[in-house]
Amino acid sequence: MVSQARVYGLIGYPVKHSLSPAMHNAAFKALGIDARYELFEVKPQDLNSFIKSLDKGIFGLNITIPHKEKVLDFIRLNEDSGFARYIKAVNTIVRRDDQWLGFNTDVPGFLRHLKENIDPANKKIAILGAGGAGRAVTYAIAVAKAKEIDIFDIDKEKAHGLVSLLKNMFKDVNIKSVDTVAELNVWDKDILINATPIGMKESDPCLVKEEMLHKKLFVYDVIYNPLETKLLALAKKTGTKTSNGLGMLLYQGMLSFEIWTGKKAPEEVMWQSLLSQISTK
Ligand code: NAP
Repeated sequence: MVSQARVYGLIGYPVKHSLSPAMHNAAFKALGIDARYELFEVKPQDLNSFIKSLDKGIFGLNITIPHKEKVLDFIRLNEDSGFARYIKAVNTIVRRDDQWLGFNTDVPGFLRHLKENIDPANKKIAILGAGGAGRAVTYAIAVAKAKEIDIFDIDKEKAHGLVSLLKNMFKDVNIKSVDTVAELNVWDKDILINATPIGMKESDPCLVKEEMLHKKLFVYDVIYNPLETKLLALAKKTGTKTSNGLGMLLYQGMLSFEIWTGKKAPEEVMWQSLLSQISTK
């Protein structure tokens, strides 16, 4: 008998190391949903043809590097799309009435996890990275009424673009881009967030120096693999409280799951699946 399972998945380039298939497949199984989550490696130049050729059996997708902004050309946003409408970055799409509708679950996923650790309201915050994750993180803390946000990205245009976008939306937040890590003035900040991929590879440098860190700082790294980057290890050494991005991954995944299925995501099942994958890597 031919399987009628609904298909969901992740498109990006590269995607093969993703933890999402196990997390979502565990959730489908736990709720008895006849569905599976697959990986689709799609090169930037192939995104258009890939979206157009999607089979009707595919009901929802996550979008990751490098497609989060480009995918906007092929889908629609409406009043239900939430944060995606404001930051123009989409990480979740769902098929509705034969059209693809976009959402951003990185923003609420990150904010929920950060707030479990520290409330960003009225805080001075330094951010490394203004790419996909950097846009979501910066928008989230502006929504949560951060007092001051300084952003550094090696691609200065990207940081400037993000600052201009957010300045128009959040008149009360003091937000600017800076040209060096030193100018982030981490010594004067309450929270430091790494939203670059620097730290994923063993050979990666640590972007901040030990003398920039202080005991009252909270350091959040969106990276979850490895669980402890050089930045987090250094922060712990200096007595700073820290978090990696595994909780963000869980919460954004739960929200995507709920958008696709209309059912409450099984948090514990998804969390255990993430933990078991990390421990076997
Ligand atoms: P991205 O769109 O490529 O953005 C990364 C940004 O960091 C780019 O603008 C990049 O500039 C910049 N950058 C690179 N090296 C830098 C450096 N030395 N100093 C300052 N900026 C630098 O990638 P992304 O989608 O934002 O992903 C970033 C990380 O977040 C990845 O590790 C990803 O796995 C993680 N992430 C985690 C979650 C979660 O749920 N925890 C969700 C999303 C993403 P160039 O483009 O010029 O290199």
